[in-house]
Amino acid sequence: MSPSDETCDLFIIGGGINGCGIARDAAGRGLNVRLAEMSDLASATSSASTKLFHGGLRYLEYFEVRLVREALIERETLLRAMPHISWPMRFVLPYHKDMRFEGSTPASKILNTVMPWMRGRRPAWLIRFGLFLYDNLGGRKILPPTSTVDLRNSPEGAPLNDKFTKAYEYSDCWVEDSRLVALNARDAALRGAQIMIRTKVTNAERVGDIWEITTEDYAGATKTHRARMLINAAGPWVGDVIHNKIGVDSTEDVRLVRGSHIVTPKLYDHDKCYFFQGTDGRIIFSIPYENDFTLIGTTDADHSDPDQRPTCTEAERDYLINFANGYFKTPISADDVVWSYSGVRPLYDDGATSATAATRDYTLKVDADGAPILNIFGGKITTYRRLAESALEKVQTYFPETGSKWTAGVPLPGGDFEVADFDKKVSDLATTYPFLTPAHARRLVRAYGTDAVKMIGDATSLDDLGPHFGADLYAKEISWLITHEFARTAEDIVWRRSKLGLRLSPDEIAALDAWMQTLLRAQTNDDTAN
Ligand SMILES: Cc1cc2nc3c(=O)[nH]c(=O)nc-3n(C[C@H](O)[C@H](O)[C@H](O)COP(=O)(O)OP(=O)(O)OC[C@H]3O[C@@H](n4cnc5c(N)ncnc54)[C@H](O)[C@@H]3O)c2cc1C
Repeated sequence: MSPSDETCDLFIIGGGINGCGIARDAAGRGLNVRLAEMSDLASATSSASTKLFHGGLRYLEYFEVRLVREALIERETLLRAMPHISWPMRFVLPYHKDMRFEGSTPASKILNTVMPWMRGRRPAWLIRFGLFLYDNLGGRKILPPTSTVDLRNSPEGAPLNDKFTKAYEYSDCWVEDSRLVALNARDAALRGAQIMIRTKVTNAERVGDIWEITTEDYAGATKTHRARMLINAAGPWVGDVIHNKIGVDSTEDVRLVRGSHIVTPKLYDHDKCYFFQGTDGRIIFSIPYENDFTLIGTTDADHSDPDQRPTCTEAERDYLINFANGYFKTPISADDVVWSYSGVRPLYDDGATSATAATRDYTLKVDADGAPILNIFGGKITTYRRLAESALEKVQTYFPETGSKWTAGVPLPGGDFEVADFDKKVSDLATTYPFLTPAHARRLVRAYGTDAVKMIGDATSLDDLGPHFGADLYAKEISWLITHEFARTAEDIVWRRSKLGLRLSPDEIAALDAWMQTLLRAQTNDDTAN
């Protein structure tokens, strides 16, 4: 019997951050884990986020203190475990007296009752209080605290309209969301999990106390797997899996809320983000992105069908442009938008009236009417590791021998160095491989951390990295991504394992894809011959 014919302990549906985070945690506890992802890892929501490890300052207005506290504590745990793909960022929050609350938040309702003359405006003292909580709720050790900025004579004020004279500055962290997923999957596989990409779960049935799961791969080949427990981490498709693939009786449902981002050429010269508050009570971020760009988002719009691929509509694009133009001195227009992306938040349907107000907290529901299934609703990139721990607590009921928590403090592949040593790692890499430009060395350490050395190996010149595909992408890196990070197409590489798609032309991407398909076919033929 091959390993994939054995009855496994956990079968996970979905290779987003939640599925891959659970796979890693469970494999590390000694469980026999199999994961099926119907497309590429992180091909859905987990590559379309704002990419922040954050507590979520705005959720304080919804009194989501548990969520904010857990996420704030988690920020630094995650930063330490992945100082390559995550880093601290400062957020500048310009203050103006006309800034308003979203009307329906619990905080705005209280303020409207006790201070009706504010007419929905956010007073400065309340923002300062929120930031005080944000600084102190979550055991901050690495990240610097809130400070005040005089925008009249600072680089942070230079790109903004003159009416903004004062700002608060606070800390959160950036994370490369889709690389986070790939590295969790890689680590899960290193710990024994079987990761099946481009493999869709089409049906699952309880047969006694075992699940029989049918999958279909890209070539249309079907296969039956047996598992003791099923984990439904299908993100936007969590309801589709419950209702259409498994047919269990559940009243729980998911609320799909689309969020879009636009990318423009770099709009300002410093490395801080802006937290802009709108007159509609919403907020958006403006974030330095991929060295030469600025990322602006996000929107909140209900989305009805997970199979309808989310895209940034013209209305969403214009909303973000107008929002940002309320702040920037030099207005931007649709012509400045070089790229956009959109994702669907799979939120737990808590009956909230507006998409903005729907809870970002996660909910785990077990159905144990026969072999158990755990359905996962909601969550954030920031809380994925904690969500995995909570999921494993539920799993432990059925596998009492399972090991205990272990992921806090254990680095992801390539992340075994101190947060403060990042620049040193870049200069060490550039010294070991003097043929790399400083920008190339920096990108490789950001992507692979200490694994960059394993990837480049004994190369002594750029020629040793193999064919060149544009930007600073060489065959050696592509082979690494195929072998260690489950990449199969050019899109997997240029939009998820990296963002080199911003720098490569369509022809270069097509040439890369052709080269990859030839390589993969040759590998398949070799496997068949052996
Ligand atoms: C616009 C936006 C901004 C956000 N910003 C942030 C942020 O800054 N910080 C933060 O912490 N969080 C943020 N989030 C939230 C975060 O991105 C999500 O909570 C998280 O990515 C959800 O991960 P997931 O694994 O549940 O879902 P997904 O990433 O969608 O993964 C589910 C996977 O299941 C697969 N699948 C579905 N059905 C099947 C099937 N039948 N067989 C096999 N595979 C299947 C899908 O292909 C998909 O890859 C944001 C979300 C959005 C939309």
